[in-house]
Amino acid sequence: MSFDYDLFVIGGGSGGVRAARIAAGDYGAKVGLAEEYRMGGTCVIRGCVPKKLMVFASAFPEAMADARAYGWDVATQGFDWTAFRAKLDAELDRLEGAYRSGLTNAGVTIHDTRAVLEDAHTVRLATGEAFRAKHILIATGGAPFVPEIEGGATLLTSNDIFKLDALPKSVLIVGGGFIACEFACILNGLGVEVTQFYRGAQILRGFDDEARGHIAELMREGGVNLHVGTDVIEARDVAGGVRVTSTDGRETVFEKVVYATGRKPNTAGLGLAALGVTLGRQGEIIVDEWSQTAVPSIYAVGDVTDRINLTPVAIREGHAFADTVFGAKPTKADHDLVASAVYTQPELGTVGLTEEAARDERPIEVYATAFRPMKSAFAGRPDRVMMKLIVCAETRKVLGCHIVAPEAGEMIQLAAIAIKMGATKEDFDRTVAVHPTMAEELVTMRKPVRKA
Ligand code: NDP
Repeated sequence: MSFDYDLFVIGGGSGGVRAARIAAGDYGAKVGLAEEYRMGGTCVIRGCVPKKLMVFASAFPEAMADARAYGWDVATQGFDWTAFRAKLDAELDRLEGAYRSGLTNAGVTIHDTRAVLEDAHTVRLATGEAFRAKHILIATGGAPFVPEIEGGATLLTSNDIFKLDALPKSVLIVGGGFIACEFACILNGLGVEVTQFYRGAQILRGFDDEARGHIAELMREGGVNLHVGTDVIEARDVAGGVRVTSTDGRETVFEKVVYATGRKPNTAGLGLAALGVTLGRQGEIIVDEWSQTAVPSIYAVGDVTDRINLTPVAIREGHAFADTVFGAKPTKADHDLVASAVYTQPELGTVGLTEEAARDERPIEVYATAFRPMKSAFAGRPDRVMMKLIVCAETRKVLGCHIVAPEAGEMIQLAAIAIKMGATKEDFDRTVAVHPTMAEELVTMRKPVRKA
């Protein structure tokens, strides 16, 4: 059987690009890649990268207030969204270009169009062309999911925020996950009046309960009008915005309403089920630990498989696939002890088990501290940092670490190395503190606050 390509990748996001680049560049495979939108995928074009730049932008009012508290005579003329957006767009163009040149330099042929599967070895492009490939990798990611809401109002998603012509005066954010909480803090920092509705009892379900409570409190103190146990019943477009009727019996007009109620894998219309590829309840592609689907020539990596929906995980999965299939180095992506950060203000950095999950499995000790960090305490801000270690009472291994603090994402990356290596609480204790820092508290917590 003759093939046009050794590998055809559908989707030019983090997972697909890494797989294509390694297969072609490191292992000499003939690789084609189709992307229907912009190269770089969710992370680069409408996720992690523009979001983090907005996180930075939104932190300046606090930094300027701190500067004044530290004796600087600073004044600001306010935030210029148009200028920021132009710079953001230019940066995304630059990054998209870097992704493209990375692929072409590795020898990958890029097809700027949609591709669907025709059979286990054939992809059909929207241009009408068809290619036969020995292996096909689906890396089409996910897209925001918005539930059906009475009233038919114009509802935005995180994708739309980056494209706003102007910042609204007021916004309602619906949801209590990563995206809802991050954008609530970002827009609040940029001066938008933010209300957030979350249907459950506490935001950030799945994270450590104490950390969730701590963040919710600080988000409220920071100015986010957070309502838990609250959802939208009806939303209608009216003059000046959207009139929202909510489960707490109120009617409120918001200039914009943003839904951040989760994401669904992009598998619709790809022709997967007809080929025998197994899909899960949300449309996610079911793969084994080698990222192989039920059809042996078809693999899938990243958010489309709905395993751990994080960029670095998709990259690892894509790399492991290329090593396994083209590099004669069978490699499974490791999904254990993956650290992550939620870029709220302050941030949450987390790795390993939550207290709730750990105590169901084995006897644990919990070490925790909350304190006012030096920098903001001096500036007169009421912020509090939280650090927490979950320790196995038998092996003494640190099972989980949860940090709510400025730059918690940076801190957790380093703590994750120790925890991935199997560090015990005594290893943390043997490590001499770096003084004066916030992170030194991680190695100076002497007594457990509780045992469970
Ligand atoms: P999440 O799954 O984290 O959160 C979805 C939220 O919407 C939950 O609070 C959920 O409530 C709520 N929700 C779901 N359906 C409805 C509904 N019908 N009505 C009302 N509320 C609803 O999704 P996100 O979109 O925030 O993020 C998607 C993924 O992207 C994350 O899981 C993460 O993997 C990734 N991501 C990572 C980031 C990072 O690393 N910093 C940043 C952003 C995204 P409930 O809890 O009750 O189910």
